[in-house]
Amino acid sequence: MRHVTDSSASSAASASVSSAGLYPAERLELARKAAAEAGLDALLISPGADLRYLTGYHAVPMERLTCLVVPADGEAFLVVPALEKPAALASPVGALGIGVTGFAETDNVYELIAGRLPRDTGRIAVDNHMWAEKLLAFTAALPRVQAVLAGEVLQELRIRKSPAEVTALRRAGAAIDRVHRRIGEWLRPGRTEREVARDIADAIIAAGHTTVDFVIVGSGPNSASPHHEVSDRVIRTGDPVVVDIGGTTEDGYCSDSTRTYAVGEPHPDFRELYDVLQRAQHAQVEAVRPGITAEALDAVGRDIIADAGYGEHFIHRTGHGIGLETHEEPYIVSGSDRPLEPGMAFSIEPGIYLPDRFGARIEDIAVCTADGGERLNLTGRDLVVLPG
Ligand code: ZN
Ligand code: ZN
Repeated sequence: MRHVTDSSASSAASASVSSAGLYPAERLELARKAAAEAGLDALLISPGADLRYLTGYHAVPMERLTCLVVPADGEAFLVVPALEKPAALASPVGALGIGVTGFAETDNVYELIAGRLPRDTGRIAVDNHMWAEKLLAFTAALPRVQAVLAGEVLQELRIRKSPAEVTALRRAGAAIDRVHRRIGEWLRPGRTEREVARDIADAIIAAGHTTVDFVIVGSGPNSASPHHEVSDRVIRTGDPVVVDIGGTTEDGYCSDSTRTYAVGEPHPDFRELYDVLQRAQHAQVEAVRPGITAEALDAVGRDIIADAGYGEHFIHRTGHGIGLETHEEPYIVSGSDRPLEPGMAFSIEPGIYLPDRFGARIEDIAVCTADGGERLNLTGRDLVVLPG
């Protein structure tokens, strides 16, 4: 689950602090090759996870265009507003040795880029999150060019994490674990979900994230709604509370972990439900290995939950990939016959939700390795009963 409740108010574009090896230069060449193989003449990448992945440049999307251009047959270059050029050059882009062009306020940057593409350009791909106004400006500047999404090409590069990326995800996982270990400091009867969430958000930053991406605190009947964020509901003795939290670390990698707590002894029916869920989640993490398909991994947990009679109450997919974005490929979902491979990182987060009563979810990030699954979240999964 992911809900944005906060985001950093950072400057329009800021230089990334790149850990060694996290943003290697060869990615641009791999992207160029992938574009050529896909029959694309160029990739146009605006600020976001794709730009950061390819160049290490952490630029924030805004009204002025910043765009990495990767021609299938030629040298990549970056076009930025003139006032952003120093920040771009100070970022890992400076070490890539690619051309960086600053455009003036009065330039038509779309015409400028169109003029630098090969004359016979017929098909371009834009990153999936490019703002519509920018895509439409490109299609106006390139009237005879077909524009498609670059996501499919780029996800194939991003889906297998390098050892440096796994290290970054491990660090993010440890940071969010530190927050879960402190939940007892804030979660108690008489406080509202919103008050608890505010304390958690502060702790997410204190634990080593630069942004808080989401905080879900679902207490009592709200725990039965996987899309619940926070409310002014006052937490009561006996409540189960779903706490699903995540943030982004300095180097760009995301955390996401859910634990379900009880504030005082919960209803015996809840304990029964929780035991089933814990068995299912454990079995799914144990089942991670190269070659198992996403849908088979989903079924491992779904079957256990269905056999216990809760099948209709597990109402979402098992998980999502994670990296520079909280939700990315591979999705662990019924209908996906994608086999898992070493380096793929994703959540395993089954849940059981009984409407108007209570629900629970347990979520860990796991990485597929040659030997099986490695958990990146290491806090306990037994039900934690806090003082009620
Ligand atoms: Zn989550
Ligand atoms: Zn998640």
